[in-house]
Amino acid sequence: MAEVLVLAEHTADGEVKKVTLELLTAAKRLGSPSVVWTGPGADAAAARLGEYGAEKVYAADSPDLEGYVTAPAAELLAQLVSSVSPAAVLVAGTTAGKEIAGRLAVKTGSGVLTDAVNVTAGEDGKPVAEQPNFGGSITVHSTVRAGTPVIAVRPNAISPEASPGAAAVEAVQFAASDAAKAAAVTERVVAAKGERPELTEAQIVVSGGRGTGSEDGFKIIEKLADALGAAVGASRAVTDAGWYPHAFQVGQTGKTVSPQLYMAVGISGAIQHRAGMQTSKTIVAINKDPEAPIFEIADYGVVGDLFTVVPQLLEEIEQHKGI
Ligand SMILES: Cc1cc2nc3c(=O)[nH]c(=O)nc-3n(C[C@H](O)[C@H](O)[C@H](O)COP(=O)(O)OP(=O)(O)OC[C@H]3O[C@@H](n4cnc5c(N)ncnc54)[C@H](O)[C@@H]3O)c2cc1C
Repeated sequence: MAEVLVLAEHTADGEVKKVTLELLTAAKRLGSPSVVWTGPGADAAAARLGEYGAEKVYAADSPDLEGYVTAPAAELLAQLVSSVSPAAVLVAGTTAGKEIAGRLAVKTGSGVLTDAVNVTAGEDGKPVAEQPNFGGSITVHSTVRAGTPVIAVRPNAISPEASPGAAAVEAVQFAASDAAKAAAVTERVVAAKGERPELTEAQIVVSGGRGTGSEDGFKIIEKLADALGAAVGASRAVTDAGWYPHAFQVGQTGKTVSPQLYMAVGISGAIQHRAGMQTSKTIVAINKDPEAPIFEIADYGVVGDLFTVVPQLLEEIEQHKGI
C-alpha cells in the first residue's frame, strides 16, 4: 500500500496534538500512514502515533525547521514527496497548515484541497475530500487530478480512531534553502490565556450573540462556558459592538469551529455565522424567537429568554457536579 504522509502538529515540548490523530485516522483510509515530525521528540511520540495507525515516523530534527516560519516545512514535505511518492499528503487545516499545503502544492505541481471536513478513498482508491462551500450551503466532494493530492483537514472534523500498531522512526536529513529561510522567527511570545481551551480545538464551545444585550450581559456566556469547561465564542454582532474581542468571533470572517457540542445563545443563526460552526457534532440553541434560523440546524433548541434559561442550566450543571 502506498504511503500517506501526515504532517504532525505538536506542542513545543513534543506533545502530539489531537488533530494529528485525526489526520492519521483519515490517512489510514487511503494507505499506510507515515508521520512527518519536525523538530526533536519523534522517538518519544512514536508510541502515541503508532496507537493511531502510524507505521513510520520521518523524524526531521533540523534547526532549519525551528527558527523559521512555514517555508522550510513545505520544502521538507516536497523532499519526502519526491523520495517516497506518497498517495497523498495530509496537513492540519490550521493557519500554518494551510500555508504549508499551498506552498507544497506549488513546489510539487500538485492540486491542493483545503478546509476538508472528511477524507475518504474513492472508487479508484484516490482521496476524495468533502468540503463545505458557500458558507456551508453546498457540500462538494473533490479530488485532485494533478500530482500528489495535498489536503488540509479542518481540526475536530474527523473523530480519531485508535488502530494500534508500532511506528518505526526513520531519521531524515534536511537543510532548508536560503529562500526558505528568508523569514525567520525572531521572538516567541506566549499568548496570555486563561484556563479555557483554545477556541478552534475545544470539545465544547459556548457562543453568545446580540441577545446577551451588552458587554455585561455577555458575562453569562463566560459563566456557562466555565461551568462546562468550554471555550467562549461570539457572533460578529457582539465583537463589532466591542462586547468581546474579535479573536473569538465565529463565522465566515472569524474562526471556524467543529466541536462535539456548540451552544448558540442569543444568536440568530445568520448564514455567515453558520459558516463557522455548522459542522459541530451537536448544536444546542437558546433563543427567545422560535422562528430564529439557528433552530433549522440545531439538534436541541430551547425557546426562551437566555437570562432565564442559562441560570437554570447553570444550577442543573452545579447539581450534577455534586453527584
Ligand atoms: C461579509 C459578512 C461577513 C460576516 N461574517 C460574520 C461572522 O464571521 N460571524 C458572525 O457571527 N456574523 C457575521 N456576519 C454578520 C451576520 O450577518 C449577522 O449580522 C450576525 O451573525 C448576527 O449576530 P447575532 O446572531 O448575534 O445577532 P442578531 O442577528 O441580532 O440575533 C440576535 C438573536 O438573539 C435573540 N435574542 C435577543 N434577546 C434574547 C434573549 N434575551 N434571550 C434569548 N434570545 C435573545 C434574537 O431573537 C435573535 O435571534 C457577517 C456579515 C457579512 C455581511
